Formats: sequence, structure tokens, C-alpha cells
Amino acid sequence: MPNFALSDEVFFRAADAFPTPFHLYDENGIRKTIRDVKAAFSWAPSYREYFAVKALPNPQILKIFAEEGCGLDCSSQCELLLAQRCGVRGDAIMFSANAMPPSEYDLARSLGAVINLDDLSDAPLLEKHGGIPELISVRFNPGGEFRGGTAIMGNPGESKYGMTRDQLREALLYCRARGTKRFGLHAFLSSNSTVESYYPSLASLLFQTGKALEKETGLVFDFVNLSGGVGIPYRPEEKANDILAIGEGVRKAYLEAFGTIREDGVKLCSEMGRFMTGPQGWLLTRVVHEKQIYRDYLGVDACASCLMRPAMYGAYHHIHIAGKRNAPCDHLYDVTGCLCENNDKFAVNRMLPKTEIGDLAVIHDTGAHGLAMGYQYNGRLRCAEVLYTANDGFRLIRRAETPEDYFATLV
Ligand SMILES: *Cc1c(COP(=O)(O)O)cnc(C)c1O
Repeated sequence: MPNFALSDEVFFRAADAFPTPFHLYDENGIRKTIRDVKAAFSWAPSYREYFAVKALPNPQILKIFAEEGCGLDCSSQCELLLAQRCGVRGDAIMFSANAMPPSEYDLARSLGAVINLDDLSDAPLLEKHGGIPELISVRFNPGGEFRGGTAIMGNPGESKYGMTRDQLREALLYCRARGTKRFGLHAFLSSNSTVESYYPSLASLLFQTGKALEKETGLVFDFVNLSGGVGIPYRPEEKANDILAIGEGVRKAYLEAFGTIREDGVKLCSEMGRFMTGPQGWLLTRVVHEKQIYRDYLGVDACASCLMRPAMYGAYHHIHIAGKRNAPCDHLYDVTGCLCENNDKFAVNRMLPKTEIGDLAVIHDTGAHGLAMGYQYNGRLRCAEVLYTANDGFRLIRRAETPEDYFATLV
């Protein structure tokens, strides 16, 4: 079930204060999610969530994470610069990039970030660009299918990330010869997982692999990074992940691997993006057009440049019409944007209440991988972002683009 924590009155007030379209983010909801996650893993030594910046790269949001004691997971130069500008540095930054310009290692090292090596070839690259650190993380790709019980949770054999088991050892030995003393182990094997056993199964794999690598190399295992992938209920019939149950599952895997939980034991971290902010964002867009041909089309003032997931993945985003929550959904519509691309549809064959031009449509779950994936195709510009603050106010945290922005890069 998507998030209905905010009343339509809040959406109407926001749309009175700012021109549509814009994404609205709920500060209280984000803070509560962070606290729930921290509570779920409070048993773990030095647990820290490193929010995946790519999910919602807005400094005002990143500052909320920093205030709540989270780190940031970055994977590009600009994401590192965002972290720096938010005053986040040192081991509060995790840097996990692949096939990136080597100069990004220089920047990551100058900020003191924890580097997560994606490939064996990255080790000599890092040596030249910033140097091999005392603590290093390596990214594991176990290949094949990733199963937990009977469920297939992911397909790492087809994923470009991480190293094989043998390469992990080789990378660690390379780094040890150049000063590395402790290591972390990372893997990301499933995206938007709604299976609560995903994190526990992954944790188990990483704990066991780490222990074996310790034996083989003599290096000391410092942390396990469960990365992202914890999913959210985009569809009304889907159930939200119970983060407490997930934390408990990981605790069991920890006990199984290490026998006890001690303050100086293997640390735990995560890099969730979608789970942290996805349900805490809504795209507010006005119905500006209706067209009845072979289907009934509602044209809204947002388009895929503000939210690409439906166009790109055919992803479902729940939509409700503000003020009509309890009206019967007895009309069949496609809800479309204005791009000259027939996949620019926020909903296809969706039952909604009878909708009029001027109605405010609320598109749910846009708080992660929403505006962040926006683009400027067709000369359509990216929209604004507004924070619904903890004290019931609204703050513009990113203005909408203007034609000047569109022309700014042209020579
Ligand atoms: C994208 C990404 C994440 C976050 O993934 P979610 O599915 O949003 O939780 C975490 N870590 C890395 C390295 C990523 O690339």
C-alpha cells in the first residue's frame, strides 16, 4: 500500500503555494524512516545507514540524513561534491563507482571516503589516484542466481557489478601488500526487493565469505555493507517491508556466523535509497487536458522529465486525485505527459474517479529515483522540489529549470 500519511489538505496547500508540477517530500516521514531503520539494527556494532545519494540528490534532504547520524553513499564526482558541500566527509562517505574517471578516486580519497572497489583493475588505479588506504571495501558478485530459500531474488550472473570470489582475494592481497589492514565486504544483488529474507540471506553470504577471506588472507574483517535494494510497496495490494523483521533476520544471520554480538565485532552498514525516501515523495501535477479518442486521456502538466520510471520500466506509480480519495474509481484513463513519446504515460488503463481539468493529481512514491532520473528530452525541463517541513511549512529546495538552464551548456 502506498503512503497515505499526508492528507489532501496538505497537497492542496502545497499546490496553492507553488506552481505545479513539483515533487513534495515529507521531512517527518523521512526522519521517522531513518529512526525506524536505526532501531531495527540497533543490536549491530556501529551500525550506520549510508543514504544512497543517487535516489534523492538534494542537499536539504542529505542534511536531514546527516543530522540523523547517517552517512552518504556516493558514486560520482557530483555526488561526492554534494556530500562535501553538506559538510559530510571521512568515513561518513562510502564511494562505490564503476567504470568511472580515475580522478574521482583522487577526490574520494581527499575527502577521506571509504572506497568500495568494484573490480580488480580498480586497485592499481586507486594506487595511482589517491593511494591504497588502510581500510578498503570490496564488492562481491557471486554470479549465477541469488536465492534465498526457494525464491530467486536476483541475477548477479548478469550484473556488471562486483568481483568474483577469486578476484576478491586477489584484490585484498594486492591492497595488503600496499598497506591495507582492514577490509569491508559489499554486495548488491537484488533491487526493490519485497522479500523480507533478502537482507538476511545477503548478510549470511557476506558474513561467511568474509570469514573465509579472513582465513585465506589473514586480513581483518571490519564491516559488512548490505548496500541497497530493500523495496517499497508501489501497488495498493503490496505490503510494506517490515524493517524490524528484516533487522531481526540479519541479527540471526550474524549470530549464526559469529556466535556473539560484541561491541568490537564486525560492523554493519547499509546503503538504502528507495526504502528511505521513496514513499516520502509525491509528484503534484495539475490535469490540464482531456482527450477522448480510442481511449480517454488525461493530460497533466508534468511529464517523464520529472519522473521517468513509468516510461523507462513501465513501473507502476499509484495516483490519486486530491479531494476525491473516497469517490468511486469508475473511469478508465491513461494519464499522460506532454512529451512526443508515446511511453510518456504515468498510468495506462487506470481506474480513477471522474476527473476534471484543473484537478490536482498526486503521483505516489516519487521520493527516490524520481526527479533524480529526470532529463531534458524534447526541450522539456525538470520541475521543482518542495520540502513539507517538520513544522507544517513548505520550503522550495530546488527551483524548476528555466530555458536559461537548458541553453547554459551550449557553446
Ligand atoms: C543504487 C545503489 C544503492 C541504493 O539502491 P536502492 O535500491 O535505492 O536501495 C545502494 N548502493 C549502491 C552502490 C547503489 O548503486
